[in-house]
Amino acid sequence: MNFETFNFHPSIMAGVRALGYTIPTPIQLQAIPPITQGRDIIGLAQTGTGKTAAFALPILQHLRQNPRGCIRALIISPTRELAEQTCEVISKLGSKTGLQSVAIYGGVSMEQQNRGLRSGAEIIVACPGRLLDHLWKGTISLSELEILVIDEADRMFDMGFLPDIRNIMGCILHKHQPLLFSATLPAGIRRLVRETLHDPVTVQIGRTLPAKTVSHALYPVQQHLKTTLLKEILNGTKTDSVLVFTRTKHRAERVAQQLVRAGYRVTSLQGNLSQNQRQAALTGFRKGSIKILVATDIAARGIDVLSISHVINYDMPESTDDYIHRIGRTGRVDKNGEALTFVTNADAGKIRALEQLLDAPLERLTLQGFDYNRPAPDKELRFSQRPRRRVVRRQEIGKQTAMK
Ligand code: AMP
Repeated sequence: MNFETFNFHPSIMAGVRALGYTIPTPIQLQAIPPITQGRDIIGLAQTGTGKTAAFALPILQHLRQNPRGCIRALIISPTRELAEQTCEVISKLGSKTGLQSVAIYGGVSMEQQNRGLRSGAEIIVACPGRLLDHLWKGTISLSELEILVIDEADRMFDMGFLPDIRNIMGCILHKHQPLLFSATLPAGIRRLVRETLHDPVTVQIGRTLPAKTVSHALYPVQQHLKTTLLKEILNGTKTDSVLVFTRTKHRAERVAQQLVRAGYRVTSLQGNLSQNQRQAALTGFRKGSIKILVATDIAARGIDVLSISHVINYDMPESTDDYIHRIGRTGRVDKNGEALTFVTNADAGKIRALEQLLDAPLERLTLQGFDYNRPAPDKELRFSQRPRRRVVRRQEIGKQTAMK
């Protein structure tokens, strides 16, 4: 089956071709027809399945029939990176339709966004906080909204955005078509679905399992040897772009610094960066001038780089959902990817949960020639070997000055 089956307008098909899509992905096949018919949708699809085009194409098809120069479609995104990326996909798919889209997120001037809004954009892709700022200031009105997409709903729930989403929903008082996309369906999201969607069609791409194009392996290792192991794996493996995940932003920064010192083209993406620094890091990674990106879960939301060949979990993710999200960055659509996870003894419970989800034991690998028994640097010893500084007491300082 190809894209001709959907009967999209030639201006939209031009965008599909420009992006090189020839065969619809399963979520596109399942979701596009009911969305086009105006049905409410729950799309259960993990990232990397082509879900953006699954909602973007019917939105473009619907809006182009009757352009009006006001906001008619809203996509709510958890992060600015995902908002930017979704907006970019919509702009490319819709480049010949004359429809415009604007990304709305915090950390940049509102005035700049106001200019974009005044230019007659009919589609906005927005993060919840900044969207509410605009709604309260009256610079955005949703009174003409026709289609609402809540994207990566489970992630927004994890990030504590549910009250904001409810406030946004409170600003849309008339009938519209809601579409909700989520990799998983936790209780909080099921409640939101009941409150917001009417007789929805559920489209589900498998269970929330990692894509089949990704192979998984565990590397048992002691905590203090992780960076050395990482460097040796990078040295001995043929990789394209590599995404390394750490549990904390400090660790992301430290690991990136250690890799820079080892001569790799690497950067870190963590919450401490300004918007410009984040953008520069992402652009470098996307264009391939930076080969390794070290990131935390939150910072990596929405990274869409087709050439990611390896996801390396420097730290085991907190939950199986996080694991799926992380490795959803590789093996995208029909490319192969590898997910390597460093595990310590403390991760036994999380490994069991992951193996249950995958319904198979995970392969444990050891790197040949790697010294797994190297002891941790002994802080006590290093301290005792340092030349001791004599502690000079206040009275002595007085004495020494007096003696001079
Ligand atoms: P998404 O899940 O929307 O983040 O999409 C993942 C990746 O798949 C993006 O790089 C898309 O450009 C790409 N993609 C989406 N649909 C198709 C398609 N039908 N054929 C090939 N690539 C696609």
